[in-house]
Amino acid sequence: MNTLQRLSIFSCLVFSVILTSCGNSVRRIHGDAIVVDTHNDFISKSLTNGFVFDQDNRGKTHSDLARMKQGGVDIQIFSIFGDDKIGYQHANTEIDTLYALIARNPDKMMLVKTPADLQKAVKEKKLGAMIGVEGGHMIENDLSNLEKLYERGARYMTLTWNNSTPWASSAADESAGKIPQEQKGLNEFGVEVVKKMNELGMMVDVSHVGEQTFVDVLSVTTKPVIASHSSVYKLAPVPRNLKDYQITAIGQNKGVIFVNFYSGFLDSNFNARNKQILEKHRSEMDSLKKTGMSLFSVEDYLFEKYPKEVAGLRPPLSLLIDHIDYIVKRIGIDHVGLGSDFDGITSAPTGLDAVTDFPKITKALKKRGYSKTDIRKILGENFIRVFTENSN
Ligand SMILES: [Zn+2]
Repeated sequence: MNTLQRLSIFSCLVFSVILTSCGNSVRRIHGDAIVVDTHNDFISKSLTNGFVFDQDNRGKTHSDLARMKQGGVDIQIFSIFGDDKIGYQHANTEIDTLYALIARNPDKMMLVKTPADLQKAVKEKKLGAMIGVEGGHMIENDLSNLEKLYERGARYMTLTWNNSTPWASSAADESAGKIPQEQKGLNEFGVEVVKKMNELGMMVDVSHVGEQTFVDVLSVTTKPVIASHSSVYKLAPVPRNLKDYQITAIGQNKGVIFVNFYSGFLDSNFNARNKQILEKHRSEMDSLKKTGMSLFSVEDYLFEKYPKEVAGLRPPLSLLIDHIDYIVKRIGIDHVGLGSDFDGITSAPTGLDAVTDFPKITKALKKRGYSKTDIRKILGENFIRVFTENSN
């Protein structure tokens, strides 16, 4: 070996040490990034199933406080949700639950209402807890309720859930043909809701809304919108995923789409395979329905009861990356993020078993060729940008 060869080996070694210490390892990228998840249903789940967020729920739920830390989650937006039969009072009960959790863990959690709060939470290494209201029915047709929820910390509201409100039609209802053409979209009060949200600085969430509502919102809003937990229709054609023209419109509006991890919203064959399982348990399903349980709850119950059968249906993690990729190719790197829907879904891609698995997404993004700068945007910076633009 001559001197030149020795020198080149030495410089290669130095270079690779620098590269690693500069933070190009997956663990380093994930740890350094601000990781934001825009949709987690733990609070609703805790009220119906009795789980407690600051206890060890391994094997029972997707999330708890300790596992959020392990997964490197810095900011979690907790969904405040009640179905169309429960409204404003229930929203407040869920917010009370979150407040109690934060009060019990002042050294580990804090409420985030502003971009400055968000940075403070990250700096103090506390889980920044944010509030998103899922379903406009929670305001009970009253703008003063919207203002009060904002005061308590709600920073986005999903205009509809699967149910429509009297002022905005949902994807589920529009696609099922339940809404006459002239009643689709936002009515006059719906327009007022969007304007009030813009004025307050509450992000308008278009996940779950019908196509006409989507078009109406985009023509009214003066601020960038979000889709807090939606995936790509072209890759998985379910009514509440986003079609190409909607993805383009969100890009033009400078909004952000936070991709949902639910297998059924990622994999176009998942629902058909699901049906086969349900068919196998048809008699049990029918007797459960007779007890008055909704079809939605019956399916959830069966999926939880037969986890091994459901596990075989999970798509690969690369499919989640395909959805992210699709959005990036269409509207650019500044308009995509993560909205897991953890603890509100029964199946996620293989490997995504809990919030502890967020680093696997970073690993998969890196493998797909995304740079550290791009990964940081997807993991959290795009959220911070849209949150800031709505807060001003
Ligand atoms: Zn939802």
